[in-house]
Amino acid sequence: MIPQVDAFIGLGSNLDDPLDQVRRALGELAALPLTTRVGASRLYASRPVGPADQPDFINAVAHLRTRLSPLALLDQLQALEQRHRRIRQRRWGPRTLDLDLLLYGEERVELPRLRVPHPEMAKRAFVLLPLAELAPEWRLPDGRSVTELAAGMNATGAIEVLPDTSN
Ligand code: AMP
Repeated sequence: MIPQVDAFIGLGSNLDDPLDQVRRALGELAALPLTTRVGASRLYASRPVGPADQPDFINAVAHLRTRLSPLALLDQLQALEQRHRRIRQRRWGPRTLDLDLLLYGEERVELPRLRVPHPEMAKRAFVLLPLAELAPEWRLPDGRSVTELAAGMNATGAIEVLPDTSN
């Protein structure tokens, strides 16, 4: 059996009640097989990258401990995206929930379906800020510190923490 591995998942949504999408997905990640969710960042609102004529994104990062292999975990994430997408396709069209496998322990994966660390993560404030909040001591496989990467982001005005309204 695969030993437990720390995995970090990036969540994003900007359609069809994004707050609810991300909150539900955090619960669904906690229920994945062979997996426990050991932490979740606060929720962040970020301006969309690219065309600005679309709603803000809600982002978060979840910390899992899993015995799923990287590809089995990706399968689970894609099944979850599909479940959210089915609801969305009927009503609004594509893209309700995006789940990225950011880090899987200290492993590097280079497969056609899966690249870990996620190739864009070191450039994205909406990944690095919640990740640094959740796991400030964590490093990428190449040794870069998530806290230092997050501190290097010039993200003023582009991302903010949402007030906690969950309780
Ligand atoms: P996106 O449009 O961002 O949802 O990209 C989804 C595609 O990226 C899928 O075909 C995945 O197989 C692929 N992919 C590659 N690496 C990753 C990763 N680390 N996490 C999630 N999807 C990935």
